[in-house]
Amino acid sequence: MRTLTSEIVKQYGQDRGLDLVGIANIERFDGAPPRMHPSSIMPSARSVIVVARRILRGNWRGIEEGVYWPNYTHFGYHGLLNSFFIPMPLYELACLVEDHGWEAVPYYPGVPERQPPAKPLRPGSVAPDVHLAIRIAGVAAGLGEIGWSKVFLTRKFGPRVRLHAIFTDAVLDPDPLVAPGSLCDRCMACVKGCSSNAIPHIREGKTVCIKIEDNTYEWGDVHMGRCTLGFHGGDPMLSPFMHKSLPGYTCRVSEQDISENNAYKMCWPMSLDKWTPTEEDPSGYRIEGHAMLKKWGGDGSYAVGGSRGCMRSCFDHMEQKNVCEQTFENGRFIKRKRWLLSDTVSPASKR
Ligand code: SF4
Repeated sequence: MRTLTSEIVKQYGQDRGLDLVGIANIERFDGAPPRMHPSSIMPSARSVIVVARRILRGNWRGIEEGVYWPNYTHFGYHGLLNSFFIPMPLYELACLVEDHGWEAVPYYPGVPERQPPAKPLRPGSVAPDVHLAIRIAGVAAGLGEIGWSKVFLTRKFGPRVRLHAIFTDAVLDPDPLVAPGSLCDRCMACVKGCSSNAIPHIREGKTVCIKIEDNTYEWGDVHMGRCTLGFHGGDPMLSPFMHKSLPGYTCRVSEQDISENNAYKMCWPMSLDKWTPTEEDPSGYRIEGHAMLKKWGGDGSYAVGGSRGCMRSCFDHMEQKNVCEQTFENGRFIKRKRWLLSDTVSPASKR
């Protein structure tokens, strides 16, 4: 008999390099909207296996010091971690599940914010595209909690993880949930570190909350337009490449009030499209540095801001408070006064 247990699943995943493997039963998704529910993709799903692999602390060193950007996009974000380092062992784990006679749906963490308006393809069905909220799935699988900054926190690595999942019709024992408030102490270091002003302070009272079993998880209602501008190269304070390519440009991201989608519409074409090659810009890219990051990152997504507050300030704080199990011999991550550029790029004539 091919018995599949939670222990077999976890051991197999960890033997293949996944740092964390947790399991949720499908009932923990009862409150999820249909277009974000695993059962909308796999109606027979009974369990959701959520896996995490660490982002190296060193993936951010170059950005933190203000000297080297490609490492984070290439190794720690879309380039290899999300597109290779996790999918390879995830796929092997899905094979293990199917070798035991159960169907396994490997899930790439899409973004629920970008579901186009659509009609169901069949009466009674849900419209495409269904996207799971992968961080909520991580909570449901007992891997951690969502911190004030909406970033997923784990006991071992703090926010330094990326998540993927497998849906299966195998019935597996779920992991215990991590109690709300066990990892995030509401220190507000993320708010202070986010120069884009995307994370509200706790005193503003802007929150989002969900309930899983008896636990209520609550976090700050992050301004995703500002977050996207900061992360994807729309903020002169965080991008030296803008200062090279757009002399005279000013944008105070902390005061912008556009949606996440409109922020994408602004910063992707502004970063990546071509214009006329000129003497100063022989490549013709609008912002050549951003275009190169995307290219070196495997031609997927690219990161400019490098999660200054929500990730770097957060794990710096969690490590200092000894919340993270993984420790480092070289002391705290933030080692010197942090850099931040002006939101006004000097005109070429004044340089
Ligand atoms: S920095 Fe991290 S621990 Fe502190 S409030 Fe923000 S999410 Fe919570």
